[in-house]
Amino acid sequence: MMDIKEFLGKEKIEYYVNHSIKAYLTMGVGCTVPLIVVVRTDDHLKGVLSRIYKEPFVLLGGGSNVVFPDVVSDPDLTVIINRSDAINQDNNQTIKVNSGVLNLDLMEWNVKHGIGGLDFLAGVPGTIGGAAAVNAGAFGESISTTLVKAEIFDSNGNIKIVANDYFQFQYRNSAFKYGKEVIINVFLSYIPEALASVRDKVDSRIAYRKEKHPAFDYLSAGCFFKNPIIDGQKNSAGKLIEQIGFKGTAHKGVMVADEHANFIVNSGNATFAEIQDLEEKIVREVAKQKGITLEREVIYITSEGKKY
Ligand SMILES: Cc1cc2nc3c(=O)[nH]c(=O)nc-3n(C[C@H](O)[C@H](O)[C@H](O)COP(=O)(O)OP(=O)(O)OC[C@H]3O[C@@H](n4cnc5c(N)ncnc54)[C@H](O)[C@@H]3O)c2cc1C
Repeated sequence: MMDIKEFLGKEKIEYYVNHSIKAYLTMGVGCTVPLIVVVRTDDHLKGVLSRIYKEPFVLLGGGSNVVFPDVVSDPDLTVIINRSDAINQDNNQTIKVNSGVLNLDLMEWNVKHGIGGLDFLAGVPGTIGGAAAVNAGAFGESISTTLVKAEIFDSNGNIKIVANDYFQFQYRNSAFKYGKEVIINVFLSYIPEALASVRDKVDSRIAYRKEKHPAFDYLSAGCFFKNPIIDGQKNSAGKLIEQIGFKGTAHKGVMVADEHANFIVNSGNATFAEIQDLEEKIVREVAKQKGITLEREVIYITSEGKKY
């Protein structure tokens, strides 16, 4: 088999050597990484994975839930940016979506094809693969209820079809969030709906989010902490952070957003160390004042390229 750089050159796949990862992350916190590869088809994604799956790699979709360290220590680390972008009708109940399709583009496709029941993802940044990996959701719904099956690249280098239960979906979590297996395509169930009705729902979801969460315009990775569930009830992490007096406060290069206390924002030149420091302070204070342990929703990458 050709080595990775030969393959990238032959297939004319975009790549960068010793390049900053910041532009690929919505929080904009990260460092120079040895190799960044940008794939635009599912075949290229499979081709790249088949050459590097035994080496250290991190696969990113929209990079909207991830923070990189200030330094990467492994000279062999590859970051794959997944921009595979095809969407097709699978049968009259499901659509087949490349995992690199942006939620935004999927919403526009759905509007044109009368695909209802997925509008809860309107306004959630990132790709459909990322959404499946973290079980993204909004408005009380999450992708776990619409994902029927997926084509995946497993950790032994095999490509296979797996059913919904393989994901072991939980609140903002799945077996893929911290794992090494890669989702190549997802098959989503839908409800046929009039085009105008899909348009209305998508537009109103986006308008609602813009009005309620202006902090969405900042450099962030979305809600930083999971909403803690106590006695079966979901509690707002943002409210708890507000109650301990952290809302709107600045901590070196990072701040707790004014509009939404569960958004930790990069003020411009934030470092990973500063984010970790603020995270620790918030967790400590919430535990001390409220007796509740907050759990991080955002994914950190170690300097060796492991997710945690
Ligand atoms: C302003 C803002 C608002 C947000 N609002 C919401 C919200 O309302 N609801 C919500 O749930 N989230 C929200 N988020 C968080 C984030 O957008 C979602 O978690 C999103 O689904 C992540 O997708 P992504 O493509 O950006 O994934 P990334 O951040 O690129 O990756 C996240 C994780 O998924 C893995 N991954 C990505 N693609 C694949 C794949 N193809 N196969 C296997 N693993 C993969 C990555 O390795 C990583 O572990 C928000 C974020 C921001 C910045």
